[in-house]
Amino acid sequence: MIGTRNVKDFLRTSSIKPILNRIMNSEYPSPGEAYELFKVQGRDIYLLAYIADQVREIQVGPAISYVVNLNLNFTNVCTKNCLFCAYSVSPQSSNGFFEISEDFIAEKIKRSLPHEITEICIQGGIHPHSSFETYLQILRNLRRIKPKIHIHAFSPQEIHHAAQTADLTIQEVLKEFKKAGLDSMPGTAAEILDDEIRRLICPNKIKTAQWLDIIKTAHELTIPTTSTIMFGHIETPNHWIRHLELLKELQQETGGFTEFIPLPFVSKKTLLAQKYSSQLLCMTNLDYLKFYAISRLFLGEVIPNLQTSWVKLGFPLALMTLNAGCNDIGGTLFEENITRSAGGVYGQVVTPSEIQSLISTLGRPFKQRDTLYNYFNNPH
Ligand code: SF4
Repeated sequence: MIGTRNVKDFLRTSSIKPILNRIMNSEYPSPGEAYELFKVQGRDIYLLAYIADQVREIQVGPAISYVVNLNLNFTNVCTKNCLFCAYSVSPQSSNGFFEISEDFIAEKIKRSLPHEITEICIQGGIHPHSSFETYLQILRNLRRIKPKIHIHAFSPQEIHHAAQTADLTIQEVLKEFKKAGLDSMPGTAAEILDDEIRRLICPNKIKTAQWLDIIKTAHELTIPTTSTIMFGHIETPNHWIRHLELLKELQQETGGFTEFIPLPFVSKKTLLAQKYSSQLLCMTNLDYLKFYAISRLFLGEVIPNLQTSWVKLGFPLALMTLNAGCNDIGGTLFEENITRSAGGVYGQVVTPSEIQSLISTLGRPFKQRDTLYNYFNNPH
């Protein structure tokens, strides 16, 4: 990272000086300018990170937020065979699968109780036996066990599956889920919002227009969602920019996104890495910093909360992204199987006090938040 003293020097000789000058005058980079920013290398990346950090300070202030949540992946059985997924097993598989029962969920919740979780996040594979009723029952059970907890559940892919199994519209499904206790949804399954890339990495998943439609319908029913991207595999910067544009446009229309969460592709054990080994982007830590910084500059106050991913990046790099435009470190996640299955090595659990200590190493205040970015009274 660079300090204020170096900035003038770096800026003077930087090829992206005109774009950064415009950004420092509170303007957003155009898609063409974002493309130029994605091309920068070397110390221009540090410059970009520095500017993104300054912009973050102006837009959302110094505090780094976190949520105390419990993540439950209720089954890894899935029919979709996405090439980047090492988490799922096919329904024909005779081993390696799990399906979590209601008792198991209740036990998990009981064990997490000392940490006063405010959110339960629940998602799973697309199990051939899961139906609209299955999802409805999960919501009702959770609501019964924890009447006041925020239920953050089901990806757009699961919503689509629920609608198909009951011959209902997306709107009808979401209305029923909301009645049963659904408070908000993860904006996962977005991957790269481009059908050509989706055809290669997740051919059986919902298409771009379906993802956007499900999210828009949720927002219209006042069900907020997060927004995500899975980046760093076989896509190009043009795909990133189009993805960011689509999210920005939708947010300007509905205002329903709570945050943007870039998720780096964890490749080690995936079919995608084997099949496309020669085309993989192989992003460096500096490339990750650049990605988070440009996300801050491009989305700005339209989606002001930018979340880093300690599960994917590990804490040292996640902390660096918090100096490159991010303002949120995500959740305590008392269980996370998806990244671990793909070869991720950064663990599943962190306690609130560990998160607070880590944030404090940056010399910045921390704030506990709920899923919708309402802040609790914090000592800092
Ligand atoms: Fe199934 Fe989701 Fe894995 Fe795709 S990413 S195979 S939908 S669990």
